[in-house]
Amino acid sequence: MKTRVAINGYGTIGKRVADAILKQPDMVLAGVTKTKPNYEVKLALSKGIRIYASSAERIKLFDDARVKVSGTLDDLLKQADIVVDCTPGKVGASYKPVYEKAKIKAIWQGGEKHDVAGFSFNSTCNYENALGRDQVRVVSCNTTGLCRSLFALDKAFGIKKTRVVLIRRGADPAEDSKGPINSIVPDPVTIPSHHGPDVQKVLPHIDITTTAFAVPTTLMHVHLLNVELNRDATEKEIFEAFSQYPRIRIVSAAEGIGSTSEVIEYARDLGRHRYDMPELVIWKESVKSFDREMYLTQAVHQESIVVPENIDAIRAMTRLTESGEESTKLTNTSMGLGR
Ligand code: NAD
Repeated sequence: MKTRVAINGYGTIGKRVADAILKQPDMVLAGVTKTKPNYEVKLALSKGIRIYASSAERIKLFDDARVKVSGTLDDLLKQADIVVDCTPGKVGASYKPVYEKAKIKAIWQGGEKHDVAGFSFNSTCNYENALGRDQVRVVSCNTTGLCRSLFALDKAFGIKKTRVVLIRRGADPAEDSKGPINSIVPDPVTIPSHHGPDVQKVLPHIDITTTAFAVPTTLMHVHLLNVELNRDATEKEIFEAFSQYPRIRIVSAAEGIGSTSEVIEYARDLGRHRYDMPELVIWKESVKSFDREMYLTQAVHQESIVVPENIDAIRAMTRLTESGEESTKLTNTSMGLGR
């Protein structure tokens, strides 16, 4: 039996998760909710995706635009085994009572607090602990990126402590009204930023302090990591450790991928839909080891990095497979990751 998945909120993350579900052999997309009948609704309908109004009050908007909806969120939840909440940050938590009333498993995104589900997920770090759970939060794009590289380093060498500077994109490409447009904003100005404590929701034993800045770019985030390992590690050993994980992609400035815009150009040249790069990108030349201390610079495509993690979370919660390795392999193959 395939797992039937509902998506509440069909924006940046929601439409990507929807497309990824359509590629899974063991899942079906029951439908998605929309607040208004814009062009995204028409495109979704043309792909055969069922549209539901996010609430009964909004059905009139769709009727007026002569767009056929299959019902409301409540109707959609009856057609599904699990809902992926992709509503804007802090809105998702308000749906918790709705999902609980409908007795449906729910996944939230990183814009919600850990407490919304009581469990924060990353495919490589804690798949097995998510098995059969009713509520899970997939951590944010930045936290997902940090979990991927830190897990690999910790497994191979052990991490004594890590210090991270995050340079965050000011907004997603379509967000005209957000900024900054001519500023570098310490965001927050206090230390630590929330990212370190968020990593510890997934990897509680990691000593991590983070500080973050928002800058006028929309393409990707960049992180500078300074990590103290429990033992000496050569650069060769560090690359070997990363090579075990198809969701980590090593790129080289010497080969022409020396900036976030060049990473995005690379994604375009790979033929990636929407120029998505769900893999964590690490610059080869930035990996520098000084015995037990090391540095690296990594880039996170915020719009897509959490998509494969949502697919694995669905598999764990509905027990499609008990093995995280099997799930991540299936997700990677179906989404063409690691190639
Ligand atoms: P978004 O604004 O692009 O999309 C949200 C969608 O939900 C929109 O289609 C909006 O119309 C719809 N919506 C608004 N209110 C709603 C409601 N009450 N009921 C149903 N739908 C509603 O947001 P996003 O960037 O996709 O973010 C979704 C979640 O994913 C947030 O928690 C966010 O923090 C997290 N996240 C975002 C990014 C990113 O870079 N965009 C990365 C990782 C995680």
